[in-house]
Amino acid sequence: MNNDIVIQTKDLTKKFGSFTAVDHISFEVRRGEIFGFLGANGAGKTTAMRMLCGLSRPTSGMGQVAGFDIARQQEKIKQNIGYMSQKFSLYGDLKVWENIRLYAGIYGMKDADIARKTEELLERLDFTKERDTLVDSLPLGWKQKLAFSVSIFHEPKIVFLDEPTGGVDPTTRRQFWEMIYEAANRGITIFVTTHYMDEAEYCHRVSMMVDGRIDALDSPSNLKQQFNASSMDEVFRKLARKAERME
Ligand code: ATP
Repeated sequence: MNNDIVIQTKDLTKKFGSFTAVDHISFEVRRGEIFGFLGANGAGKTTAMRMLCGLSRPTSGMGQVAGFDIARQQEKIKQNIGYMSQKFSLYGDLKVWENIRLYAGIYGMKDADIARKTEELLERLDFTKERDTLVDSLPLGWKQKLAFSVSIFHEPKIVFLDEPTGGVDPTTRRQFWEMIYEAANRGITIFVTTHYMDEAEYCHRVSMMVDGRIDALDSPSNLKQQFNASSMDEVFRKLARKAERME
């Protein structure tokens, strides 16, 4: 795999019984790229992302993440990625610093590095006063920022974000995306699913999944041109109209 290509799939497929959730998807993602992985509910995004993270075995096809095979080297993949989802994230009944400590330990960081980097992170987030606050009592936008920071605390090559900004207003989402750009500028590749089309506009390239297949993949400006649309929302609506699978 070319060094600049950090995710590569060829005909990647996942079946549940006779139902094909992910249907022969092929694409590449480059280092430092912000790649938006879009699709309607039930299109197959989470299933595809779980395969890329080494959490679920493909039925057929191939995939490589950070140079490792997703069917045979799941442990290596887990060491090289970060993961944040709306559902699985921080522990609400632990304090801010305890969450950072816990995840850094899971990612295998050394104690001295954890202590130093925790201080740096709390300062950068302007969270020093919240060190001993229970995560459950933080506003949702703050929780999301903290969860993202924790998911890249060990400086992974790639971070997978599954609807990271659900439920917050556009201004809070915009602030979250500033953190995404900063991480991408440091060379971390961002693979992100979202339902918000304003966020699709912030991605370098976007793929659109319909019924398990990738029906379009390009930069937001090229997609708008291709679909003769004035916004990503319009591109999405034109594509989603073809979907047979509705959840
Ligand atoms: P959402 O945006 O709602 O999360 P999605 O694009 O992530 O949707 P998936 O969760 O990947 O979609 O689901 C794709 C399809 O596969 C859906 O029809 C879902 O019901 C089905 N599916 C997912 N997991 C399983 C499973 N373990 N067994 C059977 N069917 C499944």
